Amino acid sequence: MPLYEFHCHHCGETFTVRRSFSAAKEPAPCPSCESDDTTRAFATFACMAKGSGGETYSVGGGGCAGCAGGHCATCGH
Ligand SMILES: [Zn+2]
Repeated sequence: MPLYEFHCHHCGETFTVRRSFSAAKEPAPCPSCESDDTTRAFATFACMAKGSGGETYSVGGGGCAGCAGGHCATCGH
């Protein structure tokens, strides 16, 4: 699952939430002030894959070359 970074407009806290893609758009309460006035900043993918040209890129959509077999030590898929 990807990590989503949220920013709290109430107290200015920035925090990350690990959740599924299907729940990505749901609001995340701030862990500091419990306000729902938060905005999702971006998703962080811990999973990196290498392209055929040797370039490294992050993979969205819940999988990478290492995940294909169902056990990627990097991202835990
Ligand atoms: Zn807050």
